[in-house]
Amino acid sequence: MTKGTVSGVIANMVTLKVDGPVKQGEICYIETGGDRLMSEVIKVVGSDVYVQVFESTRGLKVGAVAEFTGHMLEVQLAPGMLSKNFDGLQNDLDKMDGVFLKRGQYTDPLDRERLWDFEPIVKQGDEVRGSDWLGKVEENSQPLKIMAPFQMEGTARVKSIVAAGQYKVDDVIAVLEKENGEEIKVTMVQRWPVKFAMTNYKQKPRPFKLLETGVRTIDTFNPIVEGGTGFIPGPFGTGKTVLQHAISKQAEADIVIIAACGERANEVVEIFTEFPELVDPHTGRKLMERTIIIANTSNMPVAAREASVYTAMTMAEYYRSMGLRVLLMADSTSRWAQALREMSNRMEELPGPDAFPMDLGALVANFYGRAGYVYLNNGEVGSITFIGTVSPAGGNLKEPVTENTKKVARCFYALEQERADKKRYPAVNPIDSYSKYLEYPEFAEYISKKINDKWIPKVLSLKTRMQRGKEIAEQINILGDDGVPVDYHVTFWKSEIIDFVLLQQDAFDEVDAVSSLERQEEIMDIVTSVCEHEFNFSHFEEVTDFFKKLINLCKQMNYSPYKTQQYEDYKNQIKEMLQ
Ligand code: ADP
Ligand code: MG
Repeated sequence: MTKGTVSGVIANMVTLKVDGPVKQGEICYIETGGDRLMSEVIKVVGSDVYVQVFESTRGLKVGAVAEFTGHMLEVQLAPGMLSKNFDGLQNDLDKMDGVFLKRGQYTDPLDRERLWDFEPIVKQGDEVRGSDWLGKVEENSQPLKIMAPFQMEGTARVKSIVAAGQYKVDDVIAVLEKENGEEIKVTMVQRWPVKFAMTNYKQKPRPFKLLETGVRTIDTFNPIVEGGTGFIPGPFGTGKTVLQHAISKQAEADIVIIAACGERANEVVEIFTEFPELVDPHTGRKLMERTIIIANTSNMPVAAREASVYTAMTMAEYYRSMGLRVLLMADSTSRWAQALREMSNRMEELPGPDAFPMDLGALVANFYGRAGYVYLNNGEVGSITFIGTVSPAGGNLKEPVTENTKKVARCFYALEQERADKKRYPAVNPIDSYSKYLEYPEFAEYISKKINDKWIPKVLSLKTRMQRGKEIAEQINILGDDGVPVDYHVTFWKSEIIDFVLLQQDAFDEVDAVSSLERQEEIMDIVTSVCEHEFNFSHFEEVTDFFKKLINLCKQMNYSPYKTQQYEDYKNQIKEMLQ
């Protein structure tokens, strides 16, 4: 293996002189004072190699020795990862005393001794290809698959496969034989370099299946789909984390992976304490049973933060290959981009806008491109729905990370300071936000079948009313309440009904937190009937009084358990007001 000698240290970037071949992205370990510091090659110029160290480089001296490994930054994929907390380098944080590892300390991501109930799917003599399902095990009620090696090229025959029974992850469960006689021993563990997309599927069509989240401003107004992409930009304190947690708690997904990359340390500790308590409304079981948390805080070195989103995505691809629906959340991707920026600046690369690397756009696009709804080689489907938050400095949506993300993510949920200040939660701006899926014919067809063919036109009409309401609010603001016709007030208050009743939703109320699709349909019908109603008022104050009372009744209805007497009573009172 190639060896190197440290020739320079600039914070986490270290230059090395090497004695042999080294490839871009390769992992090496630098020895210093008894610690081995894991590092990744980011640039090779002849025998000069630039590496980013995933640890503090405190005390590292010129002349220290490095050993190259010949492999990229990779993760191990096997049963036993669910409900675990890892860091960006896949260290199992539960194997530590505290949340943080000491320098040079790495823990095994897998439990090597645990026994799994394995059941074969293929039999001796079957022909298989890379990623084909060879057998199954169950973990926390999730049906997992043990697959042929992802990297295997061409086909192979199953020479032998173990009988159903209990095995450890490192036990050989099958032997495959290639045409040239080469034998491949298969265990339950796969390895994959995190920065490369897994393309072990037959087809990736445009996604079209509504992914219910129970959040009305998403499902009704700007729907996300299974295998789709979305992003949530918003300044600090506007509700990014609350919204992501609401989605991960309620969305119809088999596996939830949360990359908490580089938020402040106490926020990461919060996620470790809050998340395990959440209950899955679909099964009544702990959500953590099917969740993986990848956490890095901004007090960890930048490189480790950059790695965490890739580690999370690779794990998501692993479960997608088994035909599962994965929901992947990254909070926030800005910290990831800042990590890229720090490294790029240290290498003195020619900077792009705001000193981000020139290829920021491509990096973001490649990352979002790994999500998707896929047909596997065996005809089954799997999906990764990806939602990332962005925390733009000063709420400026024109900064490079937001702009580049906007180009690739199909749903845009803009959290707004002004709305958050007014406590209009979720503070998703109803006018600037969008879902491109609303324009997909495949989606329209799906919704026609699942709900009805009036749904999308109704949504679009409510959106137009919101826009109109905003314009009128501005006019009233300038001309005064008496300066505009009474009709204008009616139009304005109709948009307020949409906002207060449909879009605003209390994430902390037991009933209001989750709206079933059926209930959302009913709310939309009520709101639409108010909007289509012709009112006759003679003074604007009458309008205000009437609508305040109506909004109040509708909110009471939203807080009442669905289809109870209480709920029906409020609904009848609303109907009476519209007589
Ligand atoms: P961010 O992650 O953007 O910094 P948070 O998600 O931590 O912001 O939200 C900040 C606060 O805003 C929360 O603690 C909560 O009080 C309030 N909040 C946000 N969203 C909602 C909501 N849907 N319902 C009620 N309160 C909310
Ligand atoms: Mg947050």
